[in-house]
Amino acid sequence: MRLQFPAGVAGAGCPGADQTLARGPERDFWETKMTARALRLATGKLLELPAALGRLNRACRTFQTFAEVLRLPTRQMMKLAFPLQELQRQLTPDSRLHLHVKTFDPSLEDISKAESVFMTTGRNRIEYVSSAVRLDHAPDLSHPEVCFIGRSNVGKSSLIKALFSLAPEVEVRVSKKPGHTKKMNFFKVGKYFTVVDMPGYGYRAPEDFVDMVETYLKERRNLMRTFLLVDSVVGIQKTDSIAIGMCEEFALPYVMVLTKIDKSSKGHLLKQVLQIQKFVDSETQGCFPQLFPVSSVTYSGIHLLRCFIANITGNLKTDGL
Ligand code: GDP
Repeated sequence: MRLQFPAGVAGAGCPGADQTLARGPERDFWETKMTARALRLATGKLLELPAALGRLNRACRTFQTFAEVLRLPTRQMMKLAFPLQELQRQLTPDSRLHLHVKTFDPSLEDISKAESVFMTTGRNRIEYVSSAVRLDHAPDLSHPEVCFIGRSNVGKSSLIKALFSLAPEVEVRVSKKPGHTKKMNFFKVGKYFTVVDMPGYGYRAPEDFVDMVETYLKERRNLMRTFLLVDSVVGIQKTDSIAIGMCEEFALPYVMVLTKIDKSSKGHLLKQVLQIQKFVDSETQGCFPQLFPVSSVTYSGIHLLRCFIANITGNLKTDGL
């Protein structure tokens, strides 16, 4: 039998590592030495593991609660809490005026308070109610309602899941394939309001999408605000313009949420944000002037959005609006 030292591993640097040895004292000596060396290497790797896991953990941590965000160094905390303000810092004083970062400007305390609305407790149940393909099948709920619309794959279900992360028992399905949400899904947020996840438009949209969504937007009496999601990586697409046109035509108050902000470089994101802001300022009437950039991965902007929803549904008074 011949003993082969794998190149570059335990045998590296041993005399005769690239050779084969016949069984005997010399081979026993090198086998023992090699095992000791492999053990040392393995132990070294094991000792490095907690540090590597720590790094991974930090990278994957999502800061779902605002208390966690508040414990971060100021700069990081501000970036997670107010991503638009953080982007604005990159601009020259002139162009800063164009981003309406202070239209909704709650305090950190307001943002903390809003969290209780989205948290499951004995007295606050957050739950899926039902799905509907037609408005007359929608549940008869008298609370204020907010709905989320956007192209398939824009990150709508992920966003709703992130907003509900403090109620992990609520099942919001996130698809790997576009076109997953084909119905209007209704979620009750305690005694406060209802969230509606609308079917995605564009690729693989259900045939009766326009009927379903148009009728809902036009006729749902307790609809307080429509959140129109735009993918920050690609900006406003043709199909987004159709949805924007619908909101404008029905004179709905709506808000533009820019999703997946973790995916772009700062420069690219800033370019998209400025373009979208310009569009909102010059082409829309009913759109809230301030954009809401979010990431459902890092939770950047999620806490501010929770606070905004709590505020516009009449469940939280803030100094900022
Ligand atoms: P929907 O069709 O609009 O409901 O979109 P989904 O929520 O199902 O998301 C579509 C894809 O985008 C999924 O693969 C998500 O994991 C991904 N995605 C959603 N939100 C984000 C985000 O904030 N950041 C990143 N990096 N990926 C996201």
